[in-house]
Amino acid sequence: MGSGSVGTVETRSMTLPAPLPLEGGGVLPEVVVAYETYGRLNDEKTNAVLVCHALSGDAHAAGHHGGDERPGWWDGLIGPGKALDTDRFFVICSNVISGCQGSTGPSSIDPVTGRPYGARFPVITVRDMVAAQRALVAGLGIGRLNAVIGGSMGGMQALQWTVSYPDAVQRAVVIAATGTSSPQQIAFNEIGRRAIMTDPAWSGGDYLDRGEPEAGLALARMVGHVTYLSDESMHEKFGRRLQGREKFGFGFATDFAVESYLHHQGESFTRRFDANSYLYITKALDYFDLSVDGSLAAGLAEVTAKVLVVSVSSDWLYPPYQSQALVEALAANEVEVEYCEIASKYGHDAFLLETGQLNYLVGRFLSRIEVRDVMTSGVPALETGTVLVEAARVMIDHGVNHLPVLGPNGALAGIVTSWDIAKAVAGGITSLAGVMTRDVITVGPDATVGEAAARMESHSISALPVVDEDKRVIGIVSSEALSRLVGRCR
Ligand code: SAM
Repeated sequence: MGSGSVGTVETRSMTLPAPLPLEGGGVLPEVVVAYETYGRLNDEKTNAVLVCHALSGDAHAAGHHGGDERPGWWDGLIGPGKALDTDRFFVICSNVISGCQGSTGPSSIDPVTGRPYGARFPVITVRDMVAAQRALVAGLGIGRLNAVIGGSMGGMQALQWTVSYPDAVQRAVVIAATGTSSPQQIAFNEIGRRAIMTDPAWSGGDYLDRGEPEAGLALARMVGHVTYLSDESMHEKFGRRLQGREKFGFGFATDFAVESYLHHQGESFTRRFDANSYLYITKALDYFDLSVDGSLAAGLAEVTAKVLVVSVSSDWLYPPYQSQALVEALAANEVEVEYCEIASKYGHDAFLLETGQLNYLVGRFLSRIEVRDVMTSGVPALETGTVLVEAARVMIDHGVNHLPVLGPNGALAGIVTSWDIAKAVAGGITSLAGVMTRDVITVGPDATVGEAAARMESHSISALPVVDEDKRVIGIVSSEALSRLVGRCR
């Protein structure tokens, strides 16, 4: 994969057109969503990819803000020639609601009181975050996402999209995530929240004019950070190295490099994150559970998107078994799902660090050519009452060998080929009904060309009508079109 950059970018914001009803009850009256976009939306508006961020992420996923050295948090995957190829896709990333990087959250002004919400901000769920994204995407004029992708909490949002808005998502990539938050995940989140709320500076959440509960937030981040690493990566990164000293201090000042690193992580986090947002976002994670009556398969019953699930071998916070459970639940619903466990020593953080493996997996998943990309649309069709000679004329006039036959309701009722007509002539049959094949093998527009080719081969036929959910013919895909594709790829 190439390594182009999307260049200089800026965060924009959209005020949603309507108040947002919330899963926990009530509404968020005024909602602003901060977002960035990279690439160009095509005229058909079919190339939009939504990137969802993790707990401490933001809308700045790629490129550089003017003057900044550091690129966006997923710059390794987004850009010309990368997995989220901005020459092909229109990539959107937004800050979640309840966050603190431009979207409405606890530090926003409550329009009712004119004061910051603080802890009076309503509790938000992942479903609410996704509902706000849906409104943003609609506001950008997009009805259906080509793909939604994210790691960790971003993966949960991607999954939530497939459940909340099945018709609005073609593909989803769920990395290092889960369908149901585990007790261990909830436990670590609660430790983080307690660290913040027991810091006297938290002041019931009303600290904005007095200064953040920095000690509590830093401690929360320190605990969180350990869960993002792995035993192996910590051995490798720190070992038992001492920090700035040759010998043990035999006191409580910093001895080890790992201590110093965690202090630094905690401290720098307080400069970019809001303590109340940390409380709200971790609560949203705790509530995340897509299962219904204990069944993940039941909770995912409406999913129609194709899904790529990726786990990380050394991730003990979102262990591979959770991804595997997702895959099993999706497969039980006959959802097209692919699974890959990437081999990495980086623990949960691998979803940000293993850009090589992720570019390969995500790039391959998203670059698959689908039937809609190669089908011929606007194909002629016949009605069931058509006489055979008329069918032959339509074939000659349009230079085609396959003609779908439509029933009175406009849905596909049969297919007739030039071979059928030859057979009819040989057998003295004159009616279309006498020769057409009623049991038609079809394909959906979202199927890959590989699936279409396999279907044609297994039935020894050379064309498949492409149909929508109502069995209306929206095109035809032929083996000829597929061979042209092979020629193109040489
Ligand atoms: N070369 C032929 C072709 O173009 O498909 C294949 C020969 S096969 C013996 C011909 C029969 O397959 C015909 O009776 C035709 O109606 C049927 N047929 C063609 N396409 C079909 C499809 N998509 N589904 C079901 N039957 C099909």
